[in-house]
Amino acid sequence: MPSKEKAASGEVSIYKFYKIENDKVVRGRRECPRCGKGVFMAEHKNRSTCGKCGFTEFRRADDSKK
Ligand SMILES: [Zn+2]
Repeated sequence: MPSKEKAASGEVSIYKFYKIENDKVVRGRRECPRCGKGVFMAEHKNRSTCGKCGFTEFRRADDSKK
C-alpha cells in the first residue's frame, strides 16, 4: 500500500497536471479530482485510478489503438 506519508504538517500545494520539464514528463502524484486534496490516485500502466471513489483517468500511451 502506497501510504507513505499522510497529511504532512501544514498545507500541501496542489499540483494538478504533470509538468513537462526539458524532455521528460515529470510524473508527480495525481490527486483525485473528485476526492480532492490528499487523496492520491494509484498509477497504472496507462491510467490512474482512485481507490477511494473509483475515479479512473486514462493517460495517453504511445500505443493508442482505437
Ligand atoms: Zn477519488
